[in-house]
Amino acid sequence: MAEIAVAGAGIAGLATAVALTQRGHSVTVIEERLDTTSGAGISIWPNALAALDHLGLGDQVRCAGGRVAAGAIRWKDGTWLRRPAPERIVTALGEPLVVLQRVVLRDILAAALPPGTVIDGTAVRQVSTTRTGVRLELSDSTVRETDALVGADGTRSVVARHLNGPLGHRYAGYTAWRGVAQIAVDPDVAGETMGPGREVGHVPMGTDRTYWFASERAVEAGSAPHGELAYLQTTLASWADPIPAMLAATEPAEVLRNDLYDRDPARCWSKGSVALVGDAAHPMRPHLGQGGCQALEDAAVLGAFLDLTADLPHAFRGYQAFRRRRVAAIVRESRLIGRVVNLRPVLLSALATRATVLLPEVVVTRHLASIASRSAFRLPTRDDAPSA
Ligand SMILES: Cc1cc2nc3c(=O)[nH]c(=O)nc-3n(C[C@H](O)[C@H](O)[C@H](O)COP(=O)(O)OP(=O)(O)OC[C@H]3O[C@@H](n4cnc5c(N)ncnc54)[C@H](O)[C@@H]3O)c2cc1C
Repeated sequence: MAEIAVAGAGIAGLATAVALTQRGHSVTVIEERLDTTSGAGISIWPNALAALDHLGLGDQVRCAGGRVAAGAIRWKDGTWLRRPAPERIVTALGEPLVVLQRVVLRDILAAALPPGTVIDGTAVRQVSTTRTGVRLELSDSTVRETDALVGADGTRSVVARHLNGPLGHRYAGYTAWRGVAQIAVDPDVAGETMGPGREVGHVPMGTDRTYWFASERAVEAGSAPHGELAYLQTTLASWADPIPAMLAATEPAEVLRNDLYDRDPARCWSKGSVALVGDAAHPMRPHLGQGGCQALEDAAVLGAFLDLTADLPHAFRGYQAFRRRRVAAIVRESRLIGRVVNLRPVLLSALATRATVLLPEVVVTRHLASIASRSAFRLPTRDDAPSA
């Protein structure tokens, strides 16, 4: 069995470490940060629940979060743009999605690893390949030689740049806020509320809390002088409930603000004994709630390729060929939605957003299912194994 290093202990790195460990490999996850707890919530769609089932962790995740079956879209005055029946959504997706705290998801993944697998507070600085494997130079000035390396080090990935050379990183022009409100919202309005150039999402996280996010155009690295929550409360004061009530029930210190970036896609996800997973391979805008879900699919599929072939470079090559088309379509669509919501002038964005009402529900549901249903997650079969 091989010694494999994983760079990064986010969703992608931990889930991939679980898949590799389950196949008997000796895995070390090298994480730059000392504190990897991250705030707010995350939506785990049925495609990713299916991937988690494959890792043996699906039921733990289901039990740890709230189940959401609605996918409503409203205009800021509360009028419905889309109001699909929950049964229709559940039938199309195979089960409701799960919304849980990010830190809880992280803990479930980390607990599935042998103690001592994750080394916190150490960054991978340089990667080079050797005759027998991979050589890593670490921030603590040590050098580690391993049989293989999985780069799960996010959008600024050192490993993606080792495989691809420089990758551009550009501000997308807008920013996102996230928070958790200590109140329940009506499950019927779970989904999104839209306004000209603005988007607010709100989904129940269990029975007594609500995970929310908001986005709007803003200058890069900006901040609200009187606090992020106060800014949102002012700008969204006239929006329909539950938005003002939800913001009022949020702890100001727990609101996260993150500028959104587009990074050039990594053309090469694998070469020899090095592979990329998660945002390192395919960063995407958050509008479909699929970045973390696709990272979970990556982990399960990479593991499945190791069941088809014991040769790591061979398995990595198969994983890349199998995953890239599905992920590329999701990356493109996430970016397109972001562009439409943030069109300028805002009147155009309002028109484009409101026009979505013209799409027949059956078309929208079928399309959503092609991305996020249980059956959208596919595992490779013998036919998908690349030739040696
Ligand atoms: C506003 C917003 C909302 C979102 N909502 C959802 C959602 O609802 N559902 C969903 O599925 N996705 C969602 N996403 C996307 C999701 O958060 C990401 O796609 C996912 O977290 C990517 O995981 P990752 O492990 O690939 O990368 P990351 O989470 O970025 O983890 C990378 C890790 O690598 C570490 N690292 C970086 N460089 C090095 C190095 N050189 N050496 C060692 N360690 C290193 C970092 O410290 C970090 O811990 C959202 C994103 C945003 C911005």
